Amino acid sequence: HAGIAMYRAKETGRNNFQFYTSAMNERAMERLRIESDLRNALERNEFALHYQPQLDLKTGRLIGAEALIRWHHPVLGTVPPGRFIELAEEIGLIVPIGVWVLRTACRQSMAWQRAGMGPLRIAVNLSARQFYQQDLVATIRDILAETGLEPQLLELELTESMMMNDVEVAVDILRNLKAIGVQLSIDDFGTGYSSLSYLKRFPIDLLKIDQSFVRDITLDPDDAAIVLSIISLAHSLRLQVIAEGVETEAQLAYLQRHGCDYMQGYYFSRPLPTTEFELMLGSVASAHVLGSIDAPAVH
Ligand code: C2E
Ligand code: MG
Ligand code: MG
Ligand code: MG
Repeated sequence: HAGIAMYRAKETGRNNFQFYTSAMNERAMERLRIESDLRNALERNEFALHYQPQLDLKTGRLIGAEALIRWHHPVLGTVPPGRFIELAEEIGLIVPIGVWVLRTACRQSMAWQRAGMGPLRIAVNLSARQFYQQDLVATIRDILAETGLEPQLLELELTESMMMNDVEVAVDILRNLKAIGVQLSIDDFGTGYSSLSYLKRFPIDLLKIDQSFVRDITLDPDDAAIVLSIISLAHSLRLQVIAEGVETEAQLAYLQRHGCDYMQGYYFSRPLPTTEFELMLGSVASAHVLGSIDAPAVH
């Protein structure tokens, strides 16, 4: 992990590397440091959400954003979720962090709406541990009530593997979530191992095509075939479909031509801190509707 290597470099700079007796000890100590820092991160207000815009491929309109967590660590700088979410999940911290993410994202979407910059659908990633919390549905209902956000503007991103843990229980939770009116999507679709018969039983709204299939869509006929199958599968099941990781105009054109409903990716914009996201909103809002999908990209 680059983040951990950086941490080690700073430690070495302080000349206390002599306390490390073996590589294993060293790793264990680093993990402990990160873990204890992570335990304090919420109360120290070190988390932030970045927002990546999602576009409707038919109208060219910006319809919402995915909220992605960042950790602003005092020594390590900005730590991406790939470096701490798993640890947070292991030590149970993902539950309070996840509540913070949900509340912050709902509040933000509501603030944009009140400022005339919405309505924007906000997508939030859930972790497995969060999904199976007894009070998940109540927590989400409370956050929606407290922030005033319409439930259909909140989208929860789930993964296949999290639902395959216990399909019966998962279907139950999904139904309860649908009952409060939120949107449900399956993230990284195609990388898990859900069977089609289960997919039919999940009351979901949207499939997110994993970026690993989108990357070579215009180069690799197998990836193209997989993406076309997912689009067609989704539509056959009356689901909508969004492609993630769209980086080039060619990928975008291909997806648009083949009936993909939405897209997000660096081609239009990276995930942006709140103020930059608002600047971007302002620059597309003059037209409100993007004239066409080839409107100038924000990188
Ligand atoms: P994800 O939900 O599949 O999010 C998409 C990831 O792809 C994000 O990475 C995003 O920055 C990145 N991405 C977006 N467009 C492009 C593109 O065009 N090209 C490439 N190469 N990458 C692109 P990020 O922000 O580092 O998040 C990584 C993962 O961490 C997420 O994958 C999600 O599984 C997890 N995560 C992020 N925020 C949260 C959170 O609040 N809670 C939980 N439980 N997990 C989160
Ligand atoms: Mg996601
Ligand atoms: Mg994904
Ligand atoms: Mg993911």
